[in-house]
Amino acid sequence: MDLHVERTPLREVTDEPPAPGHAREIAPGVLWLRMPLPFALNHVNVWLLEDGSGFTLVDCGYGDAPTRAHWQRQFETTLRGRPLRRIVATHCHPDHLGNAAWLASRFGCPIAMTQAEFLAAHALIEQQAGLGQADVRALFARHGMAAEHLASLAARGNPYHRGVPEAPHAITRLIDGDRLDIGERSWRVVAGYGHSPEHAALASSDGTLLISGDMLLPRISTNVAVWPGEPDGDPVARFLASLARFETLADDALVLPSHGLPFRGGAARVVALRHHHEERLDELRGALFAAGSPQSAEQVIPVLFRRTLDLQQRFFAMGEAIAHLNHLWLDGRAERSVAPDGSIRYAA
Ligand SMILES: [Zn+2]
Repeated sequence: MDLHVERTPLREVTDEPPAPGHAREIAPGVLWLRMPLPFALNHVNVWLLEDGSGFTLVDCGYGDAPTRAHWQRQFETTLRGRPLRRIVATHCHPDHLGNAAWLASRFGCPIAMTQAEFLAAHALIEQQAGLGQADVRALFARHGMAAEHLASLAARGNPYHRGVPEAPHAITRLIDGDRLDIGERSWRVVAGYGHSPEHAALASSDGTLLISGDMLLPRISTNVAVWPGEPDGDPVARFLASLARFETLADDALVLPSHGLPFRGGAARVVALRHHHEERLDELRGALFAAGSPQSAEQVIPVLFRRTLDLQQRFFAMGEAIAHLNHLWLDGRAERSVAPDGSIRYAA
């Protein structure tokens, strides 16, 4: 039997996101809201799913005053007094989890998320488990980050806590494969790795919808980075392996991503992302060859990111550069050396 299907590229289904403070029904019983972000990536999408007398909310927006002002308006305009009955957080990053505890206490509703994301949120706030800012700076210093950038990172304190003023103190635990019945639909939890500790996407059981969180995005590629809690890790391999779960998506399934526009052609997007990472790895290996001497992650950032980076972007770019170098190293395509002072360099 020939199951080969010609995969048409991703197709965004609209070029009109809902205006701030408004909602748009993007599928029956699924409302799309956009919340602002104070970064170069200036928005996050969140989803309200009809759930009996109220809604289940997937992701919550960054935990700052402007986003909360948007929520205050949405309680009247979109929810029209109906309650949130449950909150699902795809993962612990501030644009997703930021308002979860605040919204849950307002509505007295549970927060569903995976165990690793729950614990990571607390570790990031408390600067524990190798996830503190000092740990990040120590790791980045070993990978060649310049003193001025390290000082700028130190000066910004704990950015995670700014975006997540309070983490949930109790959760409904989600595990890969769990079924969630929300209104008329049932959904399956699809765990993913490489972007965050234990990301949960939601796939509708009828195969028509995927709330992909940050694991499958239409235009930008997901940040895949090494953090100090697992300095020798290979999140690129974990991310690429996780993408396999989306390769079986029907071509006309609607993908609802956290950033950008809803689109069809999710499986084709997976192919493009695999290609993108392979291309980047090849370029990186080429740059290591061309350099002729062992290189730090800091030195190869311009190979991966050909634009000026602000501090926030440099922070993520550094983690991403280490991730791609670690992948080449663990894949046997590059050598890694550690000097007596702890500095880490890579060579082809
Ligand atoms: Zn994220």
